[in-house]
Amino acid sequence: MKQAVLVGPEKIEFSEIERPVIKPNEILMKVKYVGICGSDIHAYYGKHPFMSFPIRLGHEMSGEVVEVGADVKDIQVGDLVTAMPQEFCGECEPCKSGRYNICNTLKVIGCQSPGASCEYFNVDAALIKKMPKELDAQLAATVEPAAVGVHAVRRTTVKDMNVVVIGAGTIGNVTAQAAMAEGAKSVLITDLSDYRLELAKSCGIPHAANTGKMSMQEAVDQAFGGEGADVFFECIGIGPTVNQAIECSKKGHDIVIVGVYGSMPQINMAWVQDREFRLIGTLMYLEKDFQDTIDYMAAGKINMKPLVSKVFPFDEYREAYKYIENNKDISLKVLIEV
Ligand SMILES: [Zn+2]
Ligand SMILES: [Zn+2]
Repeated sequence: MKQAVLVGPEKIEFSEIERPVIKPNEILMKVKYVGICGSDIHAYYGKHPFMSFPIRLGHEMSGEVVEVGADVKDIQVGDLVTAMPQEFCGECEPCKSGRYNICNTLKVIGCQSPGASCEYFNVDAALIKKMPKELDAQLAATVEPAAVGVHAVRRTTVKDMNVVVIGAGTIGNVTAQAAMAEGAKSVLITDLSDYRLELAKSCGIPHAANTGKMSMQEAVDQAFGGEGADVFFECIGIGPTVNQAIECSKKGHDIVIVGVYGSMPQINMAWVQDREFRLIGTLMYLEKDFQDTIDYMAAGKINMKPLVSKVFPFDEYREAYKYIENNKDISLKVLIEV
């Protein structure tokens, strides 16, 4: 079978390898789509702190089951599936408390172990999720990033809250949609790109503001009037936007850090202390978040279709990265059709 491996910065190599032989607890899928994520882009340029070469990327995937291990129940040949890409130990303190998404020895498929950029992919059946009939193979490959948003909103309380999401890329967009799905009173999303803000609106986000054209405080006032903002989600990963949250949040409230930080930011910690803010981290998701994401997508409460910017055939894997580089503003989710 064919595979695509990232062997060095900006170097993807195609090769032929044996089709995997599955273990009794595994399934084999014929891979249909692989999504390219922000972390893949960091890896592609050799700038991911926790990934090294060579690596076969692909932690966002969909596929059709073509073989089922002897011990596997409830999954049949022909099922359209996606996988939760988390390999965890089950024995460390976070795992024992049910927080295996932050397992002390967490390995992510497609980041620290080989991913789905290949024709046939074997996965532990415990990580497999079947798709309901409402979701096609492209949408199935977008469940993974959407689940990041659902977990993020569950790190605090969004029900009946005025929520601000800073950043309208894929993760900001799904965080805003997840907040709506989980009963937020209202949601404001901010970005510097009108294109991304319009896209968020088309996904049902009630308020969108370009903070290149107005201040965050003006945007909050415009969206929520005198009520103010109850909870912020920072989905960019730079200091200035964390400080926007700190400086526009009501006293005693939560700020969730969703963005991935490439360098150490300068944060207005004096206000965090004085106003009793809580800065809360979030990483990936748990099984319930993932399943609920599938259900939200099937029910139309999280809409991933508008986020799929472009689809490239497997042979044009390299072109896909070039496209993202040259179309930063308008490329959200780029898929590879395997
Ligand atoms: Zn991802
Ligand atoms: Zn563990």
